[in-house]
Amino acid sequence: MLVFTRPDEWQKLRRAYFNTPASIGFVPTMGALHSGHSALIRRAAEENELCVVSIFVNPTQFDRSDDLLAYPRALSADLAAAEAAGCDLVFAPSIEGMYGSRPERSAADYGHLTETLEAAKRPGHFDGVVTIVRKLFKTVNPDKAYFGEKDFQQLAVVRELVKREKLPVRIMPCALVRDADGLALSSRNVRLSPADRQNALALWHTLREMKSRKQHLDPRKLEKWAQRHLEQQPGVELEYVALVNENSFEPAQKWDEPVRALVAAKVGAVRLIDNEPLTD
Ligand code: AMP
Repeated sequence: MLVFTRPDEWQKLRRAYFNTPASIGFVPTMGALHSGHSALIRRAAEENELCVVSIFVNPTQFDRSDDLLAYPRALSADLAAAEAAGCDLVFAPSIEGMYGSRPERSAADYGHLTETLEAAKRPGHFDGVVTIVRKLFKTVNPDKAYFGEKDFQQLAVVRELVKREKLPVRIMPCALVRDADGLALSSRNVRLSPADRQNALALWHTLREMKSRKQHLDPRKLEKWAQRHLEQQPGVELEYVALVNENSFEPAQKWDEPVRALVAAKVGAVRLIDNEPLTD
C-alpha cells in the first residue's frame, strides 16, 4: 500500500505504478477507522481495480472548534486498518495541502436538504462537506465513491452535488454498520465513557421500537412518540428525531412513502447520529 500526501503526487503515482487504465474506487474518511469504514474499503477494493482511501480531518465541516480539537486521530493504526481491508493507496493530505494558508468553504445551497436536521443544528457543516468532497474528487478522480448510510443526509447532499455539477463519479451508498449491541459505529464512540455508551444504546433501541409501533401510528404520531420517549432517556440530550421521506427529506406523512427515522443526540460530551429505514 502506498501513502501520498500532496494532491499533485497522485497523477505522477498513477502514471508510474498503474499505466493501464484502472477503475478507481474511492473512500473519503476522517480517519480513526473502525469496522464501518473497513466495510466501505473492502467493497471499494472488491468492485474496482484500485482502491484509494483519504484520511483527512476536514476543518471546514466542523461547526465547533472544541469538536474539531477533540476529534480522534490515529494515523498509524488507520494505515494498518486500510491495508487490511484491501486499500491500495492512502491519501493523507495536510490542511495546507488541501486549502492553502486559509481554509475556506463555499456555500452549498440545495434548498430544504441543506436547511433541515443536520444543516439546522450544525450551521456551515454541509458547506464544508461539499467543499472538501469536491476537492477530493478533483484530486483523486474516482469512478466510484463509497459513502455510508450512517451519515444519511450527507449521502443525499453528496448525491445532489454530483447531480448539480455533473461530476463524473458514481456514488455508491453502503449500509450502516453497528456494533454487536446495536450502537452505530462512529469514530466519536471512543470518547464515550462506559456509562455514556450504555446510555447511547437508547438511540438504537428507540429506532427498533419505532419499527414495532408503526402498525398503530402514522409517521407524524410515531415521531411525537419517539421524541417524548427519547427525552425521557437518562444521559441523552435529544437534538432531533425526525421521520422523513428518504428522497425529499420532507416530514413523512404516510407509510406508503420511503420513510426513514433520523436521530441526533448528545450523550456525555459526544454528539451522536443514527438512522434506520422504517419502510421496506
Ligand atoms: P467519517 O470518517 O466519519 O467522515 O466517515 C467516512 C465514511 O464512512 C462516511 O461515508 C461515513 O458515512 C462512513 N461511515 C462512518 N461510520 C459508518 C458506519 N457505522 N457504517 C457505515 N458507514 C460508516
